[in-house]
Amino acid sequence: EKESSFHNSPDTDYAQAEARQAIQAAFQTVRQNLGKTYLPIINGEPVNTLHFDHSVNPCNPSEIIGQVGQATVEQAEQAIQAAQAAFPGWKNTPATERATILRRAADLMEQKRPELVAWMVLEVGKVVEEADPEVSEAIDFCRYYADEMERLDRGYTRNFPGETNHYFYQPRGLAVVISPWNFPFAIPTGMTVAALVAGNCTILKPAAPSAVIAAKLAEILQEAGMPPGVFQYLPGPGSQVGSYLINHPAVHLIAFTGSQSVGCRIIEEAAKLRPGQKHIKRVIAEMGGKNAIIIDESADLDQAVAGVVHSAFGYSGQKCSACSRVIVLEPVYATFVERLIEATKSINVGVAEEPGSGMGPVVSESAQKTIQAYIAKGQEECSLALEMPSPRPGYFIGPVIFTDVAPTATIAQEEIFGPVLAVIKAENFQHALEIANGTNYALTGGLYSRTPSHIAQAQAKFEVGNLYINRGITGAIVDRQPFGGFKLSGIGSKAGGQDYLLQFLEPRVVTENV
Ligand code: GLU
Repeated sequence: EKESSFHNSPDTDYAQAEARQAIQAAFQTVRQNLGKTYLPIINGEPVNTLHFDHSVNPCNPSEIIGQVGQATVEQAEQAIQAAQAAFPGWKNTPATERATILRRAADLMEQKRPELVAWMVLEVGKVVEEADPEVSEAIDFCRYYADEMERLDRGYTRNFPGETNHYFYQPRGLAVVISPWNFPFAIPTGMTVAALVAGNCTILKPAAPSAVIAAKLAEILQEAGMPPGVFQYLPGPGSQVGSYLINHPAVHLIAFTGSQSVGCRIIEEAAKLRPGQKHIKRVIAEMGGKNAIIIDESADLDQAVAGVVHSAFGYSGQKCSACSRVIVLEPVYATFVERLIEATKSINVGVAEEPGSGMGPVVSESAQKTIQAYIAKGQEECSLALEMPSPRPGYFIGPVIFTDVAPTATIAQEEIFGPVLAVIKAENFQHALEIANGTNYALTGGLYSRTPSHIAQAQAKFEVGNLYINRGITGAIVDRQPFGGFKLSGIGSKAGGQDYLLQFLEPRVVTENV
């Protein structure tokens, strides 16, 4: 069935002593390099800044991971001008050459894997076993989009007597990538290399809590051979630098992953035609989720409990794919809840770096406050079944489970982006589907069932971009599970899938009368 020769990069097997030694050594190396300065890169050169943002370890906020130079609006303008100057050359660089740079970047990521994992663990508090697959995913994005660009670059022809038609793609122009902190390596890599391989000059504005890892990506792309001006790294305040880039008339395309409110604001701002602008901006926005897993009476409960726990509490629930609602059919409700609580209690909440930690902190103090406010709201509206203690001094929040939650409760409707799970009881399977579809989002969803008719109905009626049957609902793999949703979960085609690069390209047809 498979036409391409693409293969996913395997994750590290930490059961091997060698792999464990490598990651321990990487932590040592990275620790010796904490607190360094990272500057914006404009036209291939680091540029000085007046202001710096401290990126800290959320497990121990007194530990500074790096000092990140904050670009100004004037520097953003310089980056735009450098990108404009570099565009003709990059546009005319053959697609295979652009793809070669991506493949070289993938090889560098493979070589630097342990250090990249260590940087992620320390900067955003993700445990090693969850950070490692991100390096695999970033490598996959590079190799997959390289192959995809070569495939699309072939275009096609349709010849008739007296007429030839040639269909082909060209880059759009200037791309701005606004990346999130929750997949601090994989997601910026995916959006950035897609834009670049398609021939667009690309400016990456990373999320502040993960700006150091993004700087590591910038180093890799430069080392792989991205020319000056083609790729630029521009950390800075979203309200100034981000807005300036989004509003700029020279920008053609914005690729964003983050919250629904910010995504909608970008779409609105990008829609306005600015003086001198001769095109409509394209926005690709991956936004939130309020993802549900349905457990029916035929489910294998061992499997279901394990899948829900991992989907809800992996990386403290800070994935847009995370399970935040579990909808359980009445006959198995009591048994499932009891087992869910027991299994959750066994999660080892601790410092992300320590082997054996199953769950680390949340990313920042402001995230912690927002989540705590939702927990308080949940206590007003629903019954609190489990609240696990939070280790200090980091930004920890132990897993929280609410039971008998009304489908319309705030914590069952709004994206919390933390380790808070709402358990909802359904009368029957139809009811469960109605509840599952009763939010503004449509990103991921799951079903645990051994009833073929339920599986078929879920496939037809469960309104999500990625539906998973009898497994967890996070951890989509490039090419195998292209990832993305609809409704208020986003606009644009699935990352790591066949339609993704098309969004970064302008199709053209030339017809010749011969
Ligand atoms: N692709 C990730 C997954 O499948 C989620 C990405 C996100 O949180 O933005 O778990």
